[in-house]
Amino acid sequence: MSKCFCGKEIENWAYARNKIYSHVCSRFCAETLKRKLPYDYRRKIPVKCYSCDNTFELKSPYCHANQRFCGVKCLTKTMSCHKGKKYSFIFTTIYENPDGITSQDIYEACDKQPFRVKGARGVTIALRRWVARGIISIDKSTSQTLYRWTSDLRPGQELLRWSK
Ligand SMILES: [Zn+2]
Ligand SMILES: [Zn+2]
Repeated sequence: MSKCFCGKEIENWAYARNKIYSHVCSRFCAETLKRKLPYDYRRKIPVKCYSCDNTFELKSPYCHANQRFCGVKCLTKTMSCHKGKKYSFIFTTIYENPDGITSQDIYEACDKQPFRVKGARGVTIALRRWVARGIISIDKSTSQTLYRWTSDLRPGQELLRWSK
């Protein structure tokens, strides 16, 4: 098992909370790197809820390090959208990889999830509708086809918007 720069092991078992990152242990550490902050386990990183306009603080303890919603209410509301768990997860992998991510990488992240996706091709099919809606773009300018988040809204907000 590899280690994160913070010293923690990078868990990748099925129910580990961090399923998106393989180079760091958590969203907390990913944000620390992205914002070029020195690592401090006491740090509180303000982030926006993925489903509403509330701001909450990412913290290093396990149960707060991978948070995406301000609270249970937003989490429940988002997960109860049609295929909410699946799309919320796929959207998050794309949203948190601003340089773009391949369908294969999305599939590999999904493979550790309780829901099923049928290979990289299954990801491509699942995303078609969202590409057509203009939320996600496909970049074919390099040898790899990359998916990118293009919406100004966050993942949960898009799911809620289209579930109405
Ligand atoms: Zn870490
Ligand atoms: Zn919220």
